[in-house]
Amino acid sequence: MENKYLLAKMTWPEVEEILKETDIALVPVGSTEQHGPALPVDNDAYIATEFAIRVAERLWEKQKVVVVPTIEYGYSPHHMQFKGTVTLSESTLANIIVDICTSLVHHGFKRIILINGHGGNTTAISNALHSMNNVVLAKIFNVDWWTFASDIIGEVVTRPVFHACDMETSVAWHLDQRVLEDRRVDEPGRSIIPGFVEPDMLAPPPKASVAFMMKYITESGVVGYSTKATKEKGKQIADVVLERLEEFILKVAGA
Ligand SMILES: [Zn+2]
Repeated sequence: MENKYLLAKMTWPEVEEILKETDIALVPVGSTEQHGPALPVDNDAYIATEFAIRVAERLWEKQKVVVVPTIEYGYSPHHMQFKGTVTLSESTLANIIVDICTSLVHHGFKRIILINGHGGNTTAISNALHSMNNVVLAKIFNVDWWTFASDIIGEVVTRPVFHACDMETSVAWHLDQRVLEDRRVDEPGRSIIPGFVEPDMLAPPPKASVAFMMKYITESGVVGYSTKATKEKGKQIADVVLERLEEFILKVAGA
């Protein structure tokens, strides 16, 4: 059966059947937000979905998992100065996550893994996870995909790693995202407090955080060097993410 792991393509009796073989669900969490002039606004949702589908495919013979429809919107108010961004409030996103997990648990899924594609979602996700502690009787995890490969990312990409940058463009490109190759731009981004609040996920300590708008640190919407992106680098990063996701899911299955 094609798309055999996609919940959206199953009938209810098929879901009942697959629940006899697995209780693991993957929930991709994305955003609909500007990604500069070269990447579409679905980029974070696209990458999270691709990782979920590709790891489900790799695992199928060893361990069946079900991929749930992607949460296509995320928490993106800081991108609203750029056209096409659609944001949820943080509490709405957290509530959607709780409602999805609660529904899945109701049907018998006992291990749920969120695969998050957007840095701005992390607070809402951790709030959702906290609110389910000791309430929803299931093991519920979150993976921000880039944290599964931050070592290799540090080795292969040009910093800063922040938004629609070398890392994100390379990975998207490798995963067959629409990339407007000749619209790629380089913009390292304005430092907010030099040495303390830098737009770079790999910046060394000391680090402080701040409420900000993307427009303040970038004109194009890009923070990073997207012209440095290559499919090869994307493959190096994505292969490591998939390998470690597979290992993680197998451990979750055995836990
Ligand atoms: Zn993104």
